[in-house]
Amino acid sequence: MDIKPETPWDGTPDISARIVVAISRVSSVLRAGMWEFATAENLNPTQAEILQLLKDRSTGVRLSWLAAQLSVSPASASDSVAALVSKGLVRKARAEDDGRASALWLTDEGKALVGRMMSALGFADDAAAALDTQVKDQLLVGLFKLIAQLQKSERFPALRACLSCRFFEANVDPGSAAPHHCALVKAPLPIAFLRIDCAEHQATDPATERRNWEAFA
Ligand code: SF4
Repeated sequence: MDIKPETPWDGTPDISARIVVAISRVSSVLRAGMWEFATAENLNPTQAEILQLLKDRSTGVRLSWLAAQLSVSPASASDSVAALVSKGLVRKARAEDDGRASALWLTDEGKALVGRMMSALGFADDAAAALDTQVKDQLLVGLFKLIAQLQKSERFPALRACLSCRFFEANVDPGSAAPHHCALVKAPLPIAFLRIDCAEHQATDPATERRNWEAFA
């Protein structure tokens, strides 16, 4: 019988497992910060997350989209939205693109509250900003690649990311420092500038989106 030599590192989990643990810990810290802020503002965590998701939205957001982003049922999202509307933080009106549907926007009061929320969660931004530029670039690319893998399993909700945007032109200059292009601003798009949540995003067709994420993964 083969007996493997014992080393002090035998019990170390795989690097993939440790990456997942690290992401999970960072996410717990962010969630705790969000809960602390939400409690102080008399909101529950879901309401605070909805306000964050409505940030920087020039067009109204559908309830079904919010529910998918939060991984909750439309009924549960609807209860939270109703509470936010009654607090005067969210406005519900007819959707611009479909007169029979309704959509949601932040009110001025809601925008002010989200501004306070971003300041309260600024500790995470500060920590990321303190990293070396090269580490930041590598981390961003690594996270995009991880999201691309998760997209394959359809466990990740739709993002307003470059890779799902109709203005994104993939690999127009392969091998260069800025291989992609944004047709909206008509400029090369270096990987470090790829966006995860872009206010100008317009969804591309599902086949192109799938191709973009697969090419990136
Ligand atoms: S920067 Fe914005 S508009 Fe341009 S490709 Fe990316 S998501 Fe689309």
